[in-house]
Amino acid sequence: MIPRRTGPALDRFRLLAAALVVCIHTGPLASYSAAGDFWLCRCLARTAVPFFLMVSGYFLAQDHWKGLGRFLAKTAETYLAAVLLYLPLNLYSGGYGPLEWGKRLLLEGTLYHLWYFPAVLLGVVLTRGLLRLGRPAALAAAAGLYLLGLGGDSYYGLAARFPGPAAFYGVVFTLFGYARNGLFYVPLFLLLGALGKRWNPRAALAGLAASLAAMSAEGFALRALGWPRHDSMYLALPFCMSFLFSLLLDRNQGEDRKVRRLSMLAYLLHPWFIALAWAGNRLPWLAGPLAENSLLRFSAVLAASLAAAWGLDALRPLPIPARSRAWREIDLSALRHNARVLQDLLPQGCQLMAVLKADAYGHGAVRTARCLQKAGVGAFAVACLAEGAALRKGGVRGTILILGYTPPDLVPLLRRWRLSQAVVDEAHGHALADMGLPVRVHLALDTGMHRLGIPAEDAAALARLFRRRELRIAGVFSHLCVSDDLRREPFTQAQLDRFYSALDRLRRQGLDPGEVHIQASSGLLNLPPQPCAYVRAGIALYGVPSGGAPRQWPGLRPALSLRARVACVRTLQPGDRAGYGLEFQAERETRLAVLTIGYADGLPRELARRGGRVLLHGHSCPMAGRMCMDQLLVDVTEVPQARPGDTATVIGWDGGAFLPAEELAERCGTIPNELLSRLGSRTRRVFRQGPEKPLPG
Ligand SMILES: *Cc1c(COP(=O)(O)O)cnc(C)c1O
Repeated sequence: MIPRRTGPALDRFRLLAAALVVCIHTGPLASYSAAGDFWLCRCLARTAVPFFLMVSGYFLAQDHWKGLGRFLAKTAETYLAAVLLYLPLNLYSGGYGPLEWGKRLLLEGTLYHLWYFPAVLLGVVLTRGLLRLGRPAALAAAAGLYLLGLGGDSYYGLAARFPGPAAFYGVVFTLFGYARNGLFYVPLFLLLGALGKRWNPRAALAGLAASLAAMSAEGFALRALGWPRHDSMYLALPFCMSFLFSLLLDRNQGEDRKVRRLSMLAYLLHPWFIALAWAGNRLPWLAGPLAENSLLRFSAVLAASLAAAWGLDALRPLPIPARSRAWREIDLSALRHNARVLQDLLPQGCQLMAVLKADAYGHGAVRTARCLQKAGVGAFAVACLAEGAALRKGGVRGTILILGYTPPDLVPLLRRWRLSQAVVDEAHGHALADMGLPVRVHLALDTGMHRLGIPAEDAAALARLFRRRELRIAGVFSHLCVSDDLRREPFTQAQLDRFYSALDRLRRQGLDPGEVHIQASSGLLNLPPQPCAYVRAGIALYGVPSGGAPRQWPGLRPALSLRARVACVRTLQPGDRAGYGLEFQAERETRLAVLTIGYADGLPRELARRGGRVLLHGHSCPMAGRMCMDQLLVDVTEVPQARPGDTATVIGWDGGAFLPAEELAERCGTIPNELLSRLGSRTRRVFRQGPEKPLPG
């Protein structure tokens, strides 16, 4: 067996690959042996760029190409920065005309090593397209393109003998300069990386040795024939790469982001040092050794590039850890679990509309929506236009309904972000329509809450709205206002009756109400299944009971925990007082911990004097004295192990103990919806997959 030492092999190989690229541009063996230098730079080092392409393909495919947009944006950003970095060299060597600038920017790269970026941008998009044909067809197409490229690269001398190919490559070279480009060269390696083929390690090693030998032979033979126009592409190269990548994948475990950044920076920076080395030729003490000794020149360029990369990397702003002061932890698996549980309660044909108002009740709207999307949720509701637009910007698809008022002059923005708008009364509906643009709406019906909605019995008003061509009425809905209170069921029943009667009247007039919905969380948990298209669930989705015990509680799990740090612990003697107004007085020897959270983080200040508590090391610790803006005193006399830096739990699980959000809300005379949605932006969010502790049954 080949010994397998694992580590971040892919990231470490990047450094070697970057050094090989520096080889290509400096020719380290040139002073010693022309053949040796050819072998190193024109054969061996030709594995470097395909390796970078394969890693990109591999990681894009790992994520099912979902990160494609981000990858393209990041690559374009890096490219632009590099273009600016080398602008002085371009200008020094005379620059280009505007047309040439455009061509180079889009296809060829503005300096010799920058061809990689436009090639990757084109190649990645092309490869993604090819993959839609299925893997085998994509691979065949990419291999075909590579073979075409070979004819314009190492095998050009052969291809150019025939008039057809010669003309074809003539056209290619006016566009790209080289056949090694995003069209012919990049797709095959991206795909090989994406497929991530693993050979048996012995076979891979033997294959690598054989294909490297074949590639060397191929390189020398072609050189002897005088065929290459350029020598980036060989027949044996894709085989080499497949075996090499398999060996690296086999040893790959974890990642080393610093090495990743350093190798990219060294790659980007080294041409500057090559230029400086040439400029240095004017300095006699430097000129001698650098001009005479190719190995020294290579080493100097590589060392300077790495040192500069190191220096630049050290300037990066250091991230501030989210868990340093007060933070929310969101358990995405609980959100998915709750979505599934609620979906199971729905009758045939009815779907969940996840209510993500107020940043998903404090849970973070975009992350919550993306997570729910994976659990099969396809419809979302928000409070306002800005919230809807934020979801779209975060990549959320499907229906997004704005439940609140939007000024009619914002209709163009509703259309821009493909949002559906609730019509809050008849006048609003006409005002929206008066904008003269088609707009997707759901009509709100007032069935007794008297908040938003067209009176459910006002058939004439509804008919007038249905006659407005601009209103694309996709649904009709209402809202229940006492469905959480089982003693007031008759009122809820009356609301339901008014709703269904209004729908019947519409249908009898030949008007299609579309998707209808009336239940929110408590309506779902307390009522029998309703013949609706959606249930708009908010608080239940977050796993928190709200407003009285519901008729059923199907094992929903709270998704949010709120935590803070212990800043310090101090001991008070009997009679000592503490905090603003000296409101706390120690009756016995008391240990107080100061926590890094306060009312500015969204905790109600009232909580401290209404029996509020936190969990520390699984113990319940009462709040002491008045809550401060950024701090909170708690009595930890019963927790002798309390230490600065410890994590205290304000909401959620700690060890075997659980502090529910609804307890805090009740103490302050409010509902968990208010408490959660008011948590301040200063408490950063940490998302995790899976609970820390078994949860209540
Ligand atoms: C907030 C809201 C909901 C969600 O309510 P929950 O009780 O959190 O499920 C549903 N519909 C409307 C109109 C709302 O405003």
